[in-house]
Amino acid sequence: MNNKHTNITPSKQNSLLRFDKENVWHPYTSMSEPLPSYLVDSAQGVNINLASGEQLIDGMSSWWSVLHGYNHHKLNAALQEQAAKMSHVMFGGLTHQSAITLCEKLINLTPEGLDKVFLSDSGSVSVEVAMKMALQYQHAVAEKNQTNLTKTKLLTVKNGYHGDTFAAMSVCDPVTGMHQIFEQVLMQHYFAPAPSIKFGEQWSNDETIELTALFEQHHSEIAAFIIEPIVQGTGGMRFYHPEYLRACRLLCDKYKVLLIVDEIATGFGRTGKLFACEWAEISPDIMCLGKTLTGGYITLAATLCTTHIAKTISEGAAGCFMHGPTFMGNALACAVANASIDLLFENDWQSQVLAIETTLNSLLKPLAKHERVIDARVLGSIGAIECKQTVNVAQIQKRFVELGVWIRPFGKLIYIIPPLIITTEQLTALVNAITTVLNEDDCFN
Ligand SMILES: *Cc1c(COP(=O)(O)O)cnc(C)c1O
Repeated sequence: MNNKHTNITPSKQNSLLRFDKENVWHPYTSMSEPLPSYLVDSAQGVNINLASGEQLIDGMSSWWSVLHGYNHHKLNAALQEQAAKMSHVMFGGLTHQSAITLCEKLINLTPEGLDKVFLSDSGSVSVEVAMKMALQYQHAVAEKNQTNLTKTKLLTVKNGYHGDTFAAMSVCDPVTGMHQIFEQVLMQHYFAPAPSIKFGEQWSNDETIELTALFEQHHSEIAAFIIEPIVQGTGGMRFYHPEYLRACRLLCDKYKVLLIVDEIATGFGRTGKLFACEWAEISPDIMCLGKTLTGGYITLAATLCTTHIAKTISEGAAGCFMHGPTFMGNALACAVANASIDLLFENDWQSQVLAIETTLNSLLKPLAKHERVIDARVLGSIGAIECKQTVNVAQIQKRFVELGVWIRPFGKLIYIIPPLIITTEQLTALVNAITTVLNEDDCFN
């Protein structure tokens, strides 16, 4: 399909892309031999318009963040109205309606007990904040009980992903998180095996034997347990049994370990529940939100915690929580987050997610039988194909663009997580493109 709105001339496009290739870092690619980048001119609804004229159906939601599509008039209006008043004021000593309204919404929507909100800039920072909160809480508890502080480590599971900053990276999967490069500087934590019983499979209590043993052995050293609820995203698009998360909650309670749930990828309906914790009917002590929080418009994240944690930290020697980003509570971000959350309910997110899930179940799941495929799985608005071989990213990307879709696989995984407003027809085009590339040898290593 051709996009008529491009106003960047071909020679300008070439010079922009040349500069980009020479001087601009892109995520997870070499600076010496970078994977190609495609120049985007605009985006509208579920379409990304390349400067070269192609129009692509977006299967990625710009890394899980876009819910209601690009260039949405209501989200644009929220930004413009806020910008006309003020874009930002410092959050130390000042506050504003957009932030207050957002925090009230988050408290009302998230599982019970999460009543205090810390706003920050990005998902990774919200994880840093969650970990620091847990450590400062244990410090305050030890102080109050006049005991030595021993709870200084975290426990997590393998295959996890929690962000790229140092504390967050220290609880990412040790192999895919490339811990060996940073071994000398990274905090050392405990890792349990990744949950192995899949969502929808038969539960067995054997699943938590090793996890339980780690809690028993090391609980006196463990401040908090951190996990992505139900979906291990970047670590492999694995969907695990809700009973596992319930077991984590019980173990944390038994051993006085805080439960941190990282809902950055799963929040706001993605798995078919508003928050993935709801599959296990648990409330964490600390919850991280990000990605979809502003409907994919601007970076913003939140760390919610219980009143008990906030009170314990505040009554400790420091008297306050030791964190305060410059752009904390950014007004533009809060305003667009409020509008995005309102749209979620106006648009009936549950039926949107159900429609996506139904289509993926009927079209994507059968690809499990393809000779190149190990497994095809679907949960809510997430569909993933695990292949036998790793993909050739440059080639498969080129083919997807030729086929009019934007899908960016990694490792052995081809996955889609489209904006909730995608139509059945557009979703079908995404799955058809995946089916096409599965039959092309040069798309795989
Ligand atoms: C993306 C992600 C993060 C990191 O968020 P950024 O905004 O990229 O810093 C953390 N945890 C999970 C589960 C994520 O998917």
